[in-house]
Amino acid sequence: MQVYTKILIGMLVGAVLGLTLGPKSMFLDADLYKVSSWDRLELRTDRDDPSTVVQLPVPKKKANGEVTPLRLPILETVTETREDRKGDPQEVETWSRVRLTYSQSLSLRDSDQQIRDQLGLTKIDDSAEVWLALQQTELESGGFSVWPVPISGFGDTLVTWLKPIGTAFMRLIKMVIVPLVFSSLLVGVASLGDVRKLGRLGVRTLGLYLGTTAAAVSIGLGIAHLINPGSFIDEKARVALQAQFVGAAGDEVERAAEAPSTIDNILNIIPANPIASLVSGDMLQVIFFAVLFGIALTLLDDKDGRPVVNILDRVQNAMVVIIHIVMKLAPYGVAALVADVVGQSGFSVLSALFVYAATVLLGLAIHGTLVYGFIAIYIAKLKPMAFLRAVRPAQLIAFSTSSSSAALPVTMECAEENLGVSNPVASFVIPLGSTVNMDGTALYQGVAALFIAQVFQMDLSMGAQIGIVATATMASIGAAGVPGAGMVTLAMVLTAAGIPTVGLALILGMDRLLDMFRSALNVTGDLAVTAAMARLEGEKLEPLSKEDDKADPKRGFERRLDKKPKPIEPD
Ligand code: ASP
Repeated sequence: MQVYTKILIGMLVGAVLGLTLGPKSMFLDADLYKVSSWDRLELRTDRDDPSTVVQLPVPKKKANGEVTPLRLPILETVTETREDRKGDPQEVETWSRVRLTYSQSLSLRDSDQQIRDQLGLTKIDDSAEVWLALQQTELESGGFSVWPVPISGFGDTLVTWLKPIGTAFMRLIKMVIVPLVFSSLLVGVASLGDVRKLGRLGVRTLGLYLGTTAAAVSIGLGIAHLINPGSFIDEKARVALQAQFVGAAGDEVERAAEAPSTIDNILNIIPANPIASLVSGDMLQVIFFAVLFGIALTLLDDKDGRPVVNILDRVQNAMVVIIHIVMKLAPYGVAALVADVVGQSGFSVLSALFVYAATVLLGLAIHGTLVYGFIAIYIAKLKPMAFLRAVRPAQLIAFSTSSSSAALPVTMECAEENLGVSNPVASFVIPLGSTVNMDGTALYQGVAALFIAQVFQMDLSMGAQIGIVATATMASIGAAGVPGAGMVTLAMVLTAAGIPTVGLALILGMDRLLDMFRSALNVTGDLAVTAAMARLEGEKLEPLSKEDDKADPKRGFERRLDKKPKPIEPD
């Protein structure tokens, strides 16, 4: 069985696990509330007596700034009703009796003795039963009060156990990215040799990357205009979505606010200390340094430049072998990642945001078909099916990891092995694309911006929309190819267009799922442009044939691992 078939099976298993047993399971009862922000949580020891409200201490942050969520097992839930003037019962408020345990994340200080007394906590029994008001939808300073998310204790535990497997897989892939991008770009630039040829390839590549990205945002805006997904959200769903995610949306906005201005962004591409850029993994800086380093080597005497290029070429090959080894774990890693994503989202978010998600997906499909179809057929002169067959492995990895950077090694392999692009072109165009080119991300930002504007019933002027095309295109250059990066830069796009960033809360629940699709489109774009560039450089592409694909189940990754390791004695 090909490794990619195994990955597909892994994804399926993960999705089923996530949906059936995950935190938002359709089958398990919600028996626990997980609360990550409790400063405005309404807790009382006596449900009917507002004076018994419990003031919880401010949450302690861990070193990474996160707060350990409070887990409140549910003992019973009651809904109070009151008759209205016509005598019909009206829901007033829902209360849950929950068990509050102090030991886990609250850790009382001496000064908290008052709460200890109020709850009757002792050293031996540090848990108490309290009442939790569930629906608090009153507006408070522009946001809503906390809305605790009911989750199944079992699903939560399951995801907690599965998560490390997915995280380990992601870290194993990420481990290779910096050395791979650096060595492959340097070798690519050096082997192109001629600075003029490099300049031409560089300008064409960047031009096509930016052009396709601007087209993507425009398609996103256009389709959101046609479908008008914002009009499908009713008031109740809007309030619920917003209340659930408003805290998290604030984090995205904060992260976006930390992003520097445009001029600083451009200056930041030049590394003041390239070793520091390699260490911190600042990809644009790594790219800049690798390109200059490569050019410098071609200007040295052959006897001086060649050994360095040779060594980095070997480094590149070794990195690819590491990825082959890591890919053995892919089916398991992918199952864990998908279970986590699907499990956290659940069906309720899916149904409320169905039209929005469908609009994004339709946009991605249109962009893939029209724009990449055009590039593949008319510029790269490839048959559409041959192109699709060649790019499938990269799409699968990008889809399951939601990261075009993580897919980079596989994308390179697809370009060289499956499309027949030469190593110098592939190792220049692809690492650049994995950072700079994000059509899927840009398209989704177009749809999301318009969707949020529609929900808030704002009319966007033509100028504002052209602004969105420009900022989303620029933002996609700066965004890293990692999960959720597009959400952070979306905050910037919204701010520039004057759309309230609190609207991010509406789409947050759906984001991680859509991220999978847009990441897959991102790598497809990189490969379409790479094929076009190779053709424009006069290369003859030899895409993988259907027969070859079928005949050798151990193609690519697995075949290379058939080699026996042999010891290397130093000379
Ligand atoms: N996850 C995307 C990528 O890696 C970026 C994003 O849209 O969040 O390509």
